[in-house]
Amino acid sequence: MSPATFRALNLVLLGPPGSGKGTQAKILAERYGIPHISTGDILREEVRNGTPLGKRAKEIMERGDLVPDKLVAGIILNRLDRDDCARGFILDGYPRTVEQAAILDDILGELGRRLERVILITVPDEVIVERMAGRRSCPECGRVYHMVSAPPKNDTLCDECGVALVQRPDDREEVVLERLRVYHEKTQPLEELYRSRGILLEVDGNQPVDTVTGVIVEALATTLQP
Ligand code: ADP
Ligand code: AMP
Repeated sequence: MSPATFRALNLVLLGPPGSGKGTQAKILAERYGIPHISTGDILREEVRNGTPLGKRAKEIMERGDLVPDKLVAGIILNRLDRDDCARGFILDGYPRTVEQAAILDDILGELGRRLERVILITVPDEVIVERMAGRRSCPECGRVYHMVSAPPKNDTLCDECGVALVQRPDDREEVVLERLRVYHEKTQPLEELYRSRGILLEVDGNQPVDTVTGVIVEALATTLQP
């Protein structure tokens, strides 16, 4: 499927923390020319900027819990209404609860749109703990690295910005375990919800990055006809 052959590619990437949603979203966003919308990235920026929302979210995020649905809904409503979403979007990290899925349906309904596909990236919990320990990201552009499997070319600097990479405070092992617990309890029910709607594409995320991308692109090409 070339970018010219679809009308609006409205996608959600679903999967546990560390399954590779951000990594894949960045690649797919460039390939299809649609925005990558990460609620985690947006919330981290609010925290960095010390906004009222950031102040409320900071401590919740650091302990690995979810920010209240109503606070995140405002972010999504504003973001999906922007012009750059006209040909589609890739939501990464939203929705994360059954309530958020209902809010998303309402928002899309008001905009006269619908979700085309939800791509579920599966990775076993034990692999995730190892991945998170090595994850570093660029505070400037958000590019994600892994110090063993996808290291930066130059020591600990971002290949694109030259800025020093950082480790997220919520990537400490005890917080990762809590985030996985929260995923299984609050987010995993969405897998069945979207499966029952017939829009779930399940992808084995425990394969090299390029392989995962290839499976997603192929599945979108065969299931989404213009
Ligand atoms: P998420 O956005 O789902 O939290 P990320 O995309 O940030 O996950 O990936 C988590 C970590 O795992 C990063 O360090 C990333 O470089 C690494 N990673 C992503 N995809 C793969 C993969 N297919 N194989 C090995 N490591 C991966
Ligand atoms: P992520 O970058 O997707 O791993 O998200 C990091 C943290 O941001 C999560 O552990 C939550 O605290 C918060 N967060 C991100 N997206 C959401 C969301 N949709 N709902 C609630 N909290 C979120």
